[in-house]
Amino acid sequence: MSKKLDIVKKQELLKVEDLHMVYRSGKLESTALRGVSFRVKAGEFVAIMGPSGCGKSTLLHILGGLLRPTSGEVLIDGFDMAQARDGERTKVRRDKIGFVFQRFNLLPTLTARDNIELASRLHNNHFDIAKANEMLRMLGLKDKMHHKPSELSGGEQQRVAIARALINRPVLLLADEPTGNLDSGNSRMVLEMLKNLNQEYKQTILMITHDHEAAASAGRILEMRDGKLLSRVQNLFYAMEQKLL
Ligand code: ADP
Repeated sequence: MSKKLDIVKKQELLKVEDLHMVYRSGKLESTALRGVSFRVKAGEFVAIMGPSGCGKSTLLHILGGLLRPTSGEVLIDGFDMAQARDGERTKVRRDKIGFVFQRFNLLPTLTARDNIELASRLHNNHFDIAKANEMLRMLGLKDKMHHKPSELSGGEQQRVAIARALINRPVLLLADEPTGNLDSGNSRMVLEMLKNLNQEYKQTILMITHDHEAAASAGRILEMRDGKLLSRVQNLFYAMEQKLL
């Protein structure tokens, strides 16, 4: 392992401690998280796997600052998302986190490049065209940058969404079932891309999925059932590729 990677690996980027979430609506209660704890170091690619209804989306929405937990601690790059006021959470979400969604969520009237530019301008009213072009090239989208989402395949749309999520250099990329809407060929391409972002560019990624093939792209897989984490599984193929073993 290179010295640079060694240092990066030691830095804890995400700490989740005893997280609980109970949805309440009138007298009805639904418990989604029952004491979830885990850590992610900078430069890791972690997948959280589990069946529908086990609490994956709830967890991801809390990590992304879109939901406030009932109790527990969420530290992202040292910042407490669970306790922070709404305005502070929004700032951390904007500055530190990139999101990739199952349904891509691109604006249909804008081209690929303009979708990326909008994300950049909303962040700090600045757009680095050279950086955006480089990113589109890296993601294999150089010839598609002037296409609108309806003129792109699902896989291409997801790659544009990944470029959009990365344009503001987030410390953490949160991916919510990123291959859930894709056929197997496009899924594989998107997963290769995420793996490459992690291995070549040291992008920290946390992905939720119910797909074993998707989870196998990650370095570590956390299994979730009924609002709890079951086990931590080291992905040996990933470790061998990264020469960690
Ligand atoms: P997953 O993403 O693994 O499918 P969710 O986090 O969506 O799981 O859901 C976990 C549990 O919380 C489920 O029992 C679900 O019905 C419940 N739940 C999710 N969102 C809400 C909500 N807004 N109000 C009430 N219950 C919810």
